[in-house]
Amino acid sequence: MQQAEPAMSCEKCGAKLEVVRRCRQVRLKCTDCQREFQIHEVASRLDSATEALLGQYTTIIYD
Ligand SMILES: [Zn+2]
Repeated sequence: MQQAEPAMSCEKCGAKLEVVRRCRQVRLKCTDCQREFQIHEVASRLDSATEALLGQYTTIIYD
């Protein structure tokens, strides 16, 4: 069974966003322009795969 790839894209340049962990927060970072988005900024358009990935960090995000 294949898992869905997270498919969030940057609002600025359209490149792929990757989940990065900062000391006490999780952000989505653009692999191209390096812009970082806070989770609440992209919450309305999270896809299920990214949401699942973020679920691993729930305790950190809501700490
Ligand atoms: Zn970008």
